[in-house]
Amino acid sequence: MFDLANLNLRLCLLCDQEITHKVSWKNVLMQEPEMLICVECFGKLDPISGELCQICSRVLSAEFRRDTLCLDCHRWEQDPKWQGFLTENRSLFHYNDFIKESIATFKYRGDYAIAEAFSSFIKDALPKLAFDSIAIIPLSSERLLERGFNQAEALVVTAGETCIQPLTRIHSEKQSKKSRRDRINLPQVFQITDPELVAGKKILLLDDIYTTGSTLRHAAKALKLAGATEIRSLTLAR
Ligand SMILES: [Zn+2]
Ligand SMILES: [Zn+2]
Repeated sequence: MFDLANLNLRLCLLCDQEITHKVSWKNVLMQEPEMLICVECFGKLDPISGELCQICSRVLSAEFRRDTLCLDCHRWEQDPKWQGFLTENRSLFHYNDFIKESIATFKYRGDYAIAEAFSSFIKDALPKLAFDSIAIIPLSSERLLERGFNQAEALVVTAGETCIQPLTRIHSEKQSKKSRRDRINLPQVFQITDPELVAGKKILLLDDIYTTGSTLRHAAKALKLAGATEIRSLTLAR
């Protein structure tokens, strides 16, 4: 009898170790999805699950919730200037040390293999979100020059999709250092370059990390004011 285990020799896109994928008759017959990362790396990822905030997919805790929303989203939605712009954000993994390191390598070394490592998770998540087009958050020109690529675009491309770039940045990206009050009062961060790309469409914003949600909400607002009907977002981690 031939050795089934030798059929699947390949290297993990995150750690370069050989993927020793145990092939059983069950997954030979069921055509399991191709494993691009090893079991050890997969085990270090912490998928987000449980009872989640209906907007941002944060895990709801008793002290940080208001009904079906987390307190953060509740506050944004209470503000008439921000109400209803972001329909839903899905984040796939908790932002733990492992994914933090992976994303950093990806961003600063421009390592496309890392985007590819996550492509099967992105592909898997896309059909669960209603959208007509995928849009990416633009980097400032300084950032783009420094990195040479947009990590969100890499995630779209490696997942086999195409994206539109209807937004440009007006302000810098140093928002994370500002307080929540400052962020909420920040003037427009984005401008729409081509309203025809988004008018009447459901737009899915794709990005690597959901931090404060402020960037995504600014983008969602700009898109909606330009005529997009619904804005969702998909982020790798939060
Ligand atoms: Zn690995
Ligand atoms: Zn929330």
